Amino acid sequence: MKKICVFNQKGGVGKTTTNINLASYLALEGFKILVVDMDPQGNASSGLGIDKNNLNSSIYDLFVSDKDLNSLIIESDIIKNLYIVPSSINLAAAEVELANMKNREFLLKDSFSKLNGFFDFVFIDCPPSLGFLSLNSLVASDSLIIPIQCEFYALEGLSQLINTISLVNQSLNKKLYIEGVILNMFDSRANLSNEVVSEVNNFFEDKVYSTIIPRNIKLAESPSYGLPIMLYDEKCKGAISYKNLAKEFICRQRRSGL
Ligand code: ATP
Ligand code: MG
Repeated sequence: MKKICVFNQKGGVGKTTTNINLASYLALEGFKILVVDMDPQGNASSGLGIDKNNLNSSIYDLFVSDKDLNSLIIESDIIKNLYIVPSSINLAAAEVELANMKNREFLLKDSFSKLNGFFDFVFIDCPPSLGFLSLNSLVASDSLIIPIQCEFYALEGLSQLINTISLVNQSLNKKLYIEGVILNMFDSRANLSNEVVSEVNNFFEDKVYSTIIPRNIKLAESPSYGLPIMLYDEKCKGAISYKNLAKEFICRQRRSGL
């Protein structure tokens, strides 16, 4: 079971879109996938068809009510092999509620040890911040995927991100490494998009996936229907690119000995 968090402290870069669609295509390929929604916004949950306002339990209960992670898992009824631990808005308060707890950065990591290897991959959707929830995600993960938006300011904050990873490496999770970097919202007509691609490639070299996700309106529409792109419009450019990304992801995993 490999645990991967999708992380960038910058907001709106495509973390959730990547979680929803990469996870769905990998599930379609037959891998058992768990998506853990660590963002109080709950966009990964709703984007995968979970009704956030009608939940009996959520990841919040892991942190605050000490529930077993297994009891929080919901099987997707739209995609086979896909399972979700949903989030809810009260998750935002967890950090404050656990302010005095020792080892609170390890709560998610510890909960994974009870999953008994049923899943091939766990994907964690992080919020756009560097607080308790992201830290728990980084500590619990083997690696991280960094989505980057091909727009102005894309590179701003990258040094902070690298700094965060190296701080985590020094103390809480020595083994954490960068799994891959995804270029998202690419617009081939914009010079700026091409500039960002070349700068990101210079910076992250072979970590960057060669599949680039274009700006595609269908990708933005599908979450409002609670559907991953393959069930919303499987032929659109966004769907094809996420399908290719999943293939590239699998190839890389096989090369590294999955
Ligand atoms: P946050 O930091 O708030 O959690 P995020 O990094 O998870 O944001 P998303 O929610 O995935 O980012 O994307 C931000 C917005 O951009 C969403 O409305 C999403 O539907 C849209 N979006 C993401 N990727 C694309 C794309 N390739 N083409 C068009 N729209 C996109
Ligand atoms: Mg998000």
